[in-house]
Amino acid sequence: MTAIGTLPNTGIETLRDALTRLETEGAALGHFNVADEVLLKAVVAAAAETKLPVFVGASEGEREFIGVRQLAALVKSMRQEFDVPIFLNADHTHSLAKAMEAANAGFDAVGIDFSALPFDQNVARTKEAVQAIKAVNPAILAEGEIGDIGTGSEIKETAQGGKLTTPEEARQFVEATGIDILAPAVGNMHGMLKSMVQGKAKKHLDVERIAQIKQTAGVFLTLHGGSGTDNEHFRKAIAAGINIIHINTELRVAWRQSLGESLARDPNEVVPYKILRPVVDSVKQVVSSRLRLFHGEPVSAGAVGSVA
Ligand SMILES: [Zn+2]
Repeated sequence: MTAIGTLPNTGIETLRDALTRLETEGAALGHFNVADEVLLKAVVAAAAETKLPVFVGASEGEREFIGVRQLAALVKSMRQEFDVPIFLNADHTHSLAKAMEAANAGFDAVGIDFSALPFDQNVARTKEAVQAIKAVNPAILAEGEIGDIGTGSEIKETAQGGKLTTPEEARQFVEATGIDILAPAVGNMHGMLKSMVQGKAKKHLDVERIAQIKQTAGVFLTLHGGSGTDNEHFRKAIAAGINIIHINTELRVAWRQSLGESLARDPNEVVPYKILRPVVDSVKQVVSSRLRLFHGEPVSAGAVGSVA
């Protein structure tokens, strides 16, 4: 761990600069959700280990549990301690009030999600939120979402989502709302099927559609619901224009499995940090592996996506 002042240029790169740089390098920024300090420690430790930037995300539910301002303060403090860029996103924000709360707390980006509404209402509500958060912080990046990729980063019985984003919709939506980042539906889905947790099935992406959307939208693209996606599809999606990839369920699966093992190891163990340390390590391994893949480093086929 090195003080930030001793290293050149780290910590002062903005999220926009980082995304632009990674795009030229043929890489994507890994976005990992956290709901407590165990997960946050795991994500930041993976960034420190791989020396790659990370995007820490928290949805409304995750933010409510950890605390909006508390999470911003923890990330700010970790930025000062670790010599890798750590950015913070208010993932899946469904109201203007929650978007403003995150902007005021110092988040680098807000994922504005009115994708459940009809297109026109989605445009109107997203545009309103974009203008409001940029009035608080002109450097903040605003994300908007169109299409259906299902809800909840959980283990599911059946596949969700359906309506894929068209390149024309993407163009109209970006122009009308002023967003910096677009989250399209391109074969991705929130959560994982049981077969995906077991590593027997993988999600496949519509890479051609990603390339077309990139061309018409002309903004950064983020891929939600990345857990359980085929490694090769991730590589192709990044080459086609994906800038950010969200991984949540894989972390949750690793968290639950390792917590169960840790608790079962010694029924008399009551020291929280002794129980939780292996959980941090287990989640960190998933994050590190995904980060390496998103930055074009070789990853063995079974390294991720078969976490159970
Ligand atoms: Zn998502």
